[in-house]
Amino acid sequence: MGSRQVTSWQGMNITVAGLGVSGISAARALAGLGARVTVVDGGDSEAHRTRASEVESTGIAVRLGDADSLPEGTDLVVTSPGWKPSSPLFEAAAAAGVEVIGDVEVAWRLRGPDAAPWLAITGTNGKTTTTQMLASILRAAGLRTAAVGNIGTPIIDVVQGQEQYDVLAVELSSYQLHWAPSVRAHSAAVLNLAPDHLDWHGSMEAYAADKGRIYEGNTVACVYNVADKATEHLVEEADVVEGCRAIGFTLGAPGPSMLGVVDGILVDRAFVENRQKNAQELAEVADVNPPAPHNVANALAAAALARAFGVEPRAVRDGLRDFRPDAHRIAHVAEVAGVTYIDDSKATNTHAAEASLAAYESIVWIAGGLAKGATFDELVAGSAGRLRGAVLIGADRELIRGALARHAPEVPVVDLDRTDTGAMLAAVREAARLAEPGDTVLLAPACASMDMFANYGTRGDAFADAVRELAAETA
Ligand code: ADP
Repeated sequence: MGSRQVTSWQGMNITVAGLGVSGISAARALAGLGARVTVVDGGDSEAHRTRASEVESTGIAVRLGDADSLPEGTDLVVTSPGWKPSSPLFEAAAAAGVEVIGDVEVAWRLRGPDAAPWLAITGTNGKTTTTQMLASILRAAGLRTAAVGNIGTPIIDVVQGQEQYDVLAVELSSYQLHWAPSVRAHSAAVLNLAPDHLDWHGSMEAYAADKGRIYEGNTVACVYNVADKATEHLVEEADVVEGCRAIGFTLGAPGPSMLGVVDGILVDRAFVENRQKNAQELAEVADVNPPAPHNVANALAAAALARAFGVEPRAVRDGLRDFRPDAHRIAHVAEVAGVTYIDDSKATNTHAAEASLAAYESIVWIAGGLAKGATFDELVAGSAGRLRGAVLIGADRELIRGALARHAPEVPVVDLDRTDTGAMLAAVREAARLAEPGDTVLLAPACASMDMFANYGTRGDAFADAVRELAAETA
């Protein structure tokens, strides 16, 4: 293991940025260790005040309505993931020479000497899925584990809780990595790297550098995506423990020190005796749920981390078979009149939508929402040959329509100029009209949902409800 920073929290004046789930969890844990904690939050609504009084009753100070100035005497700032590095509070901290860290860093510093090692995962897309696949594989191997980090129970609570773990599957966002300078994973994977959240990080370089932090100090394996050179480049840049290996994953036949696919079989040429000659069968592509190409890549990355931890091949297969993806990630909704309806509402950026469009042959694509500054030319040009038609919804649909006109002029497009609650039913009806038996109607919006829906989950639910209504009408 890399060096562990020892911090005494007793009597420290700590300012926690953000009165949300992770901020409150950090504040409670730090107060429990004897720190004097003040939570600051820019909000001052009724909901904020209710939450504040709950927190204050445990001896933690809360300052609402001012997120910018640093409370007098602060020794350390602990931030919640959403706060931008350019936030005035952090500028004030930098000016005062006060360190800023995130919840993951706090968790890392709170680990005891016998704490479970971390297998860490980041990437632009596929983090949650891969982390859950990994946890499933580790469980199948009989190990005590949990999927934590950007998902599930706050990581500080897991590290401090009563439950004992052998190993943790840790999903880390680029935000969390930015604020976690001393985390040292046993092994880590960067799944892919595409422009996202650039408004937060400031530039693609800064975003990549934060993702690359996950490899720092790895002891056994740095897992990268052979098809995404940028991830391999991050491994080359990383400062790892002597003997730590670079392990690639690929949807093609694997070279030595890689995991890949041969004739529908997931194979390991990294963690085997004599990898120049031998390969170990791990599972079948059909064991991956769903077996779409990008998801097979996720499975290979999870398998690589598990194998780096010494897990047997059989547990990789069993863990993949046991795995059930979270809702709205290429979820099969129904088949109506020979057409399959798939909900990939979680495809909130173009890179994710590209992956799900690559998974089907003939598609009526439902897309649109908030583009977050993205362009759609590459996505549409790469998918044009598989589009039977497109139905566009949401605020920025014009951008997608433009890309379709440029790169897929023959594809029929329905531009739904409505944002009311019934719009999704109208979109599904239009898609059904365009689809032929054997086609897939795919909700993969390539955009955020907040122009029309509370979040991607309600957008996916609206789609599924609409499909069920269509099915009832058709029956
Ligand atoms: P994250 O936690 O990184 O947001 P998820 O596992 O929740 O990732 O998947 C989000 C969406 O990204 C999925 O709905 C799917 O469309 C897409 N996706 C998943 N894995 C990949 C991958 N390896 N490459 C590209 N897109 C992916």
